[in-house]
Amino acid sequence: MDVWTHHRWRFPLPRRHSFPIEKYGLLAERVVADGLAAPDEVLEAAPAAWDDLAAVHDYGLLSRIREGCLTVREERGLGLPWSRELVERGRRSVTGTIAAARHAVEHDVAMNLGGGTHHAGRDFARGYCLFNDVAVATAALRRDGLADRMLVVDCDVHQGDGTADIFAEDPRTFTLSLHGARNYPFTRVASDLDVDIASGTGDDRYLRDLTEALDFALERAQPDFCFYLAGADPWEGDRLGRLALSKPGLLARDELVLDRLLDADAAVCVVLAGGYADDVRDTVDINAATAAAVASRVHAPDSAS
Ligand SMILES: [Zn+2]
Repeated sequence: MDVWTHHRWRFPLPRRHSFPIEKYGLLAERVVADGLAAPDEVLEAAPAAWDDLAAVHDYGLLSRIREGCLTVREERGLGLPWSRELVERGRRSVTGTIAAARHAVEHDVAMNLGGGTHHAGRDFARGYCLFNDVAVATAALRRDGLADRMLVVDCDVHQGDGTADIFAEDPRTFTLSLHGARNYPFTRVASDLDVDIASGTGDDRYLRDLTEALDFALERAQPDFCFYLAGADPWEGDRLGRLALSKPGLLARDELVLDRLLDADAAVCVVLAGGYADDVRDTVDINAATAAAVASRVHAPDSAS
């Protein structure tokens, strides 16, 4: 299957920073090694146009990001040091989601090996998130008449405050976030449905809560297009997660979400979001399992299935 990546565009980070910059390249190698994508199906995303970003984000914020004029407070909230390379990478990450979303319209489901930067709101960039790729891709799909009613299923362990902020007044987008109750962000923006999960929650309870949430969200949203943020950070070994899902539990989560959304006749674009295992290879394992679940559900228009 085609996938999108931007891992070659790196940016300077202080030593021992918790942003897992290695996972993106390792994952791109892994999907090829696992036979999920041929080498020429791993596509490099171009930088998003500033006009596309401006469909979602405040002009002043974009100017400060572009010129390197974020305030000290903004840069601290972002948690990443500003650099031209950081901005370039952020723009490419957005394009990966736009491209995967367009591809999903044709093939039912598609994946960006990045994106899911859900803490970026209309006029704020924080929590390692410069631009909100899902919101920018939503605007692009609608502009091109490819989708209308949207559902965002955010299973990253952190609440999707930026996404909730951008879509707060949008009656045609339903935002669902399942997240650790006692975790970042501590000042939240309400989604259409927020599900707080207690610290230490394991597979069974999580999957029950997710099933219930999907029932509610699908009924309300009636989506023709969905974004799924398949965060790896609810994993039991995650440094930032506080939940206790196993790797098989996370795969069951992915399969549940994908099957429910596809059964509802929506196309699905999958993005990575977070993952902060001590050993980055654990995060890559979880992301690769998500990619395998996606690959087995891709609809090939030419095949006789
Ligand atoms: Zn997260």
